[in-house]
Amino acid sequence: MSYRKRSDSKAMNPKELLDTTFDCECGRSHTVPIRNLIYAEDALEHLPKVLASFTEGRRAVLIADERTWDIVGCRVEEALEQAGWSVHNTIVPDNAGGSPVCDDTTHDWLSDHLPPADIVVAAGSGVINDLAKWSAFEHNLPYVVVATAATMNGFTAANVAPSVGGVKTIIPARPPLAVFAIPSVISEAPFELTAAGLGDTIAKPVSTADWLLNHIFCGEYFCRYCSQIINALEPCYLEKPEDIKNRKPAAIEALFNALLYSGIAMTVVGTSAPASGGEHLLSHTLDMMSGIDGIAHDLHGRQVGLGAIFTSAIYERIFRIETPRCHPFPTEIDSIFWSDRTDNVGEQYELKRPALQTMSEKLQDGATWQAFLTAARQQVHSPRQIKDCLRTAGAAHTFADIGCPRERLLAAVLHMHEIRKRPTVIDLAWLLGILPGAADEIIDRWLTS
Ligand SMILES: [Zn+2]
Ligand SMILES: [Zn+2]
Repeated sequence: MSYRKRSDSKAMNPKELLDTTFDCECGRSHTVPIRNLIYAEDALEHLPKVLASFTEGRRAVLIADERTWDIVGCRVEEALEQAGWSVHNTIVPDNAGGSPVCDDTTHDWLSDHLPPADIVVAAGSGVINDLAKWSAFEHNLPYVVVATAATMNGFTAANVAPSVGGVKTIIPARPPLAVFAIPSVISEAPFELTAAGLGDTIAKPVSTADWLLNHIFCGEYFCRYCSQIINALEPCYLEKPEDIKNRKPAAIEALFNALLYSGIAMTVVGTSAPASGGEHLLSHTLDMMSGIDGIAHDLHGRQVGLGAIFTSAIYERIFRIETPRCHPFPTEIDSIFWSDRTDNVGEQYELKRPALQTMSEKLQDGATWQAFLTAARQQVHSPRQIKDCLRTAGAAHTFADIGCPRERLLAAVLHMHEIRKRPTVIDLAWLLGILPGAADEIIDRWLTS
C-alpha cells in the first residue's frame, strides 16, 4: 500500500486511490483497501495472477447462482484451473421468488457448504456479492468479485445489507480486494439490472445534499473530496441517458465505475452517508413492507430511482423557502403499520430524536438556513431532470413500473422517515410542514405517468 499527501488529492483520478492511504483535505487520513479494478475483455486472464498476489494457497471457493454460473462462473473456474488452482464450486439455490436472497437462512446454508479455502471468489452481482463478502469476512478469508451486471453500488462497499429475522440489517464486513468485470458481459446483462444501477447512481446528488444537511445542522463529519468522487463521471449518463438505453460501451463503463467509486466513498468514510440519503429510505421501506406482507419487491436501484425523483421534488419545495417556520416533528412511530418490526424501527427513531431537536433549533438561524440552501442547491438536480433521465434510459420512474400500487407507495413515503437514525431531507420536510401534505401532489405530478 502506498501513501499520498493531501496536496495530491484534488487532481487525483479515483483509480489512483486504489490500495493507498492518503491525507485528505477533510483532515482525516483515508485508506482504500481495494487493490485492483479490472474492467477489460481479458479480465479473467489476469485473475489467477491477481489472486496469487493475495494468498499463497491455491484453493478457491467460487460462489455463484445458476444464472451467473452460466454467464461467468464457468469461465472463472476454467481460468483458475488452467493456472493450477483447485476450485470448489458453490451454487446458491434460488428461493421461491426465482433467485437467491441475502438473508440469514441462505447465509447459514452457505456456511455449511464452505470447505477449507484460501480465497473466496464471487461470480455475480448484488446478492451473490453480499453473501460471498459476508462469509469471507466471517472466515477471515480474502475475497474478490467477478461482476455480472452494473446494478448496485455494493461491490466495493465494506458492509453487507442482509435481512436477518425479517429485518433489514447492516453487518460490517470487508470490501473485496479486487473487482473484475468483462465489458461485454456487463453491457449484455438483462437491461432492468443496468437500469437499476442507473437508479442507484442517480440518487447520489440527493445523498450528498442530505450528508451536507447533517453536516450543517448537526455538525456531522463531511468530506468534500469523497462527496465529489464520482462527479466527473456523472455527465456520461446524466446528460446522455439514451446511451445507457443503447448500451453504448462508454456510458455503461461510466455507470459501472460510478457504482464502484460511490461504494469506495462509503468504504473510505465508514458510513453509507455519501451514497444513501432520504431517497434510499423509500427503497428500504418498500423492502420492509414486502417482508411484513410476505410478498416480493422490485430491485433496489429501481425503487431508489423513484426515491430520487421524490426527494428532488421535496428539495425543489425547500429551495423556495426563504424563512423557515418550524413544525413539531411526529413524536411516535406507527406501530400498527410496522407490526412485528415496531421495536426495531422505534429504536432507530428514538436515536434520531436529539438530532431532530437540534435541527429544529438551528432552523431558526437565518445564516445556517442560507448556508444550507446554497450548499444543497449546488448538488441537487431538478425532479424533471432526474425523471427525464430515467425515462429516456428506459429505467423505472412510476409506481406502476415498480409494481407498487399508489396507496402502497403513499404509505411508504409517509413512514420512511421512521426507519433510520440519520436525519434526511424527509425529516426536514416534516419539520418544515411540507410533509405529510405534499406527498399526494408529488406522487401525482412526478411518479404516476
Ligand atoms: Zn476526506
Ligand atoms: Zn443503493
